[in-house]
Amino acid sequence: MTLRCLFVDFDSFFASVEQHDDPRLRGRPVAVVAVPSDTTCCLAASQEAKRLGIKTGTGVREARERCPDIALVLARPWRYVEMHHAFMAAIGDCIPTEKAASIDEVPCTLIGRERQRDNAIAIARRIKQRLCDVGIGPDMSCSIGIGPNRFLAKTASDMNKPDGLTVIEQANLPHALHGLALRDLCGIGASMEQRLLSAGIDSVERLCATRREHLRTAWGSVEGERFWMQLRGFEVPERIREHPASVGHSHVLGPELRNFDGMRTVLFKLLAKAAMRLRQGDMLASGLSLRIRFVGREQRFERDLGFAPLDDTPSLLGMLARMLDTLDRARAVGRWHEKRHPPLSVAVTLVALSPATRLSGELMPTRARHRRLSRLLDEINRKHGNYALYFGGMHIAVEKDAAPMRIPFQHVPDTRLEGDRADRRHPIKPASSPAAEITDPLYLQRENQFKVLAENHHRRQQQNRSGAKPAYRPAGARPSNTVESIQRPGENLSLF
Ligand SMILES: [Mg+2]
Repeated sequence: MTLRCLFVDFDSFFASVEQHDDPRLRGRPVAVVAVPSDTTCCLAASQEAKRLGIKTGTGVREARERCPDIALVLARPWRYVEMHHAFMAAIGDCIPTEKAASIDEVPCTLIGRERQRDNAIAIARRIKQRLCDVGIGPDMSCSIGIGPNRFLAKTASDMNKPDGLTVIEQANLPHALHGLALRDLCGIGASMEQRLLSAGIDSVERLCATRREHLRTAWGSVEGERFWMQLRGFEVPERIREHPASVGHSHVLGPELRNFDGMRTVLFKLLAKAAMRLRQGDMLASGLSLRIRFVGREQRFERDLGFAPLDDTPSLLGMLARMLDTLDRARAVGRWHEKRHPPLSVAVTLVALSPATRLSGELMPTRARHRRLSRLLDEINRKHGNYALYFGGMHIAVEKDAAPMRIPFQHVPDTRLEGDRADRRHPIKPASSPAAEITDPLYLQRENQFKVLAENHHRRQQQNRSGAKPAYRPAGARPSNTVESIQRPGENLSLF
């Protein structure tokens, strides 16, 4: 009776959806990409591609070298969200589901007799059968892990892919984990692995044997103790966040928008979108963070601004415009050569969030007007579709459909797929359709992970070309509470 969680994880989810929708892709190495370019990286790889060493984060050029006949398919986020809801319903027919852990991962709580090994395994088999019955499987397989807590169930789901079913019981601990690498455990990334190595913990076996207080020291926080408990099968309550820490968007600029004005208009659109989500979540922001990366240049343009809590779009756009003035001046005096180092990617984030209920009222009439205007704008756009009404500063970005949440269909860069694109069976939804904008937090979460991957890939490529060492980049983006831009340690803003 030690089994408390059953964790469903779909195998190569995005690539499997593509193979599910297009029978011609089945059995073939497939990689899903965000843009048709050799300089980007794969968002997902099918099982066949994985066997050739191609995985999430592998550069497209490298993927082509490893497998010249790989099918490169453009990502269709709305379709993945649609499939997510379909499999959630199918799993829900077998066992009550919890909130999805990600777009392709679902934890389910086992209660009463379900906690017995045979019953839990029977539920897992029922889920797999149900997925086949509703037409999701067997092209889209899932691996199921069953364990004493969610962490171990998730770990188990990764141990036998694809189409696996793995049970870790209390009695199997810790030996069942000894064959894993540190990075196989959820919560241990590259930097955490380094910290553990420098603390003398170089294997999962050693990690399991380390004392609780030592893990706390190694982690530098109570998270180390949580990890210690999870490894031993304790169910640790999830940390509840009152509200998200930040709301933001980033975008890699299309070639036609890689100039100051293009970048500005995209940033306006991204910030307006973030402000809308802020209001939807009944939150206020007290900080704005801006990041711009340039072609052929390691140094980023970074600005952080702090201010009294607010949520209206005009005030935020005004502040963003002033932050960009610095860059405009650098351009005017020749410290930044727009053509030599055009902007490549932009990111804008609203930080230091608090619940909107904490705002007692607006004293300044302009600010009160701005709030009313923003709410009216939201109402009109909710009714008539996004961008039915918008601020003039973002016109070019809206017109060019830059920074869309939904990645539009384009030509698949593999010539063998030209002319008979799989996406015809799933035509583009009209721009006015509410589904045209993917605001599903699970997809956005995954999208952000991919952006980090793509950016890292791009940086690695640049380093390889120039032979340069990576520059120090401080993590996080905490704004000050002053109303001025601040320079953070480690930054070199001299060029701007
Ligand atoms: Mg998965």
